[in-house]
Amino acid sequence: MRKIYLDCAATTMTDPQVVKAMLPYFADKFGNPSSIHSFGQEAKAAMEEAREKIASFLGAKQEEIIFTSGGTESDNFAIKGVAYANQKKGNHIITSSIEHHAVLNSCKFLEKMMGFKVTYLPVNKDGLLDPKDVKKAITDKTILISIMHANNEIGVIQPIREIGRIAKEKGIPFHADTVQTFGHISINVDELNVDLLSISGHKLYGPKGVGALYVRKGTRIVPFMHGGDQERNRRASTQNVSGIVGLGKAVELIKEEMDAEMKRLISLRDKLIKGILDNIGYSRLNGHPTKRLPNNVNVSIEYIEGESLLLNLDMEGIAASTGSACTSSSLEASHVLLALGLSHEVAHSSLRFTMGRYTKEKDVDFLLEVLPKITDRLRSMSPLWKH
Ligand code: PLP
Repeated sequence: MRKIYLDCAATTMTDPQVVKAMLPYFADKFGNPSSIHSFGQEAKAAMEEAREKIASFLGAKQEEIIFTSGGTESDNFAIKGVAYANQKKGNHIITSSIEHHAVLNSCKFLEKMMGFKVTYLPVNKDGLLDPKDVKKAITDKTILISIMHANNEIGVIQPIREIGRIAKEKGIPFHADTVQTFGHISINVDELNVDLLSISGHKLYGPKGVGALYVRKGTRIVPFMHGGDQERNRRASTQNVSGIVGLGKAVELIKEEMDAEMKRLISLRDKLIKGILDNIGYSRLNGHPTKRLPNNVNVSIEYIEGESLLLNLDMEGIAASTGSACTSSSLEASHVLLALGLSHEVAHSSLRFTMGRYTKEKDVDFLLEVLPKITDRLRSMSPLWKH
């Protein structure tokens, strides 16, 4: 049976070249990068090389990159670390209602347990945030603005450069969750006016369980984990050297292909969107049609549960998703789709296809062949379907 993987927003396959680069750091080169002997220094040199690759890819300085265990830790670190460091200045944070739970739940924790106040800004029906709303929400107590670069469910790319400019004018630290954009669309920390930025390895053909937080020099932040003096005293614990080497290799590989890959994926994405909307009645695209990630297609196919579509697609060998992998076991409608104004029924009839390096045009063609058939079959069995 065919196996077509269209769930790259959940995770990507680790590139075989990345695996090859990582392997020596499990056995031959196993040193602790904090050790001063040659084993340690060999591991440290590899780790610093990876740091340099990531920093130069972002237009940042090497010492501004802190290695973490992934996107969730980076988001927690950025939000809690900046909030605690600036507590004397104020207690107000601005974020959006469609953030990943790593950001939303960090904010909710600060609200409930630590007395912070959080403004959750709305988005319009296309999933876009208005920078003017950010400006209006700022008070003299605002100490952090955290807005994601692109949403993991609907792929909508936010105007973070403008939001960053507003934050900069007011002297407020600006964090962007770039887990879905890092390595997929161009990011330069100065052009985007960001002070903190979260990265995860497994979304760009790197390993799972490794990531980074970019922190602009001069940004006030306190450590999130306490222990040894690794990462210049900012993140305790022995570094995941093999993972970090893998992340560095993933960045090196993606750098070579990013522009061409973006064009290729945009053409596949638009073919898939058109194919679905033209051939399946009562289907709609969720999120802005063009201000979205090159690889993301999120559609609602009304009168059918997204889970039923997902299981039927899986039987045809196609892996997709109904939304965020982190909440896929919950039966609650997606907070992102509800924020666009969708009803619970329509939100429940949604599917996300996210393509990647290994997606071929014939995969999209096959999906476009089977999806209308599955839709017809499921609708014919649905008591809600009266057309
Ligand atoms: N932020 C966004 C936007 C994500 O899509 C994800 C993962 O899906 C995360 C954060 C969490 O990243 P990780 O799985 O590396 O903890």
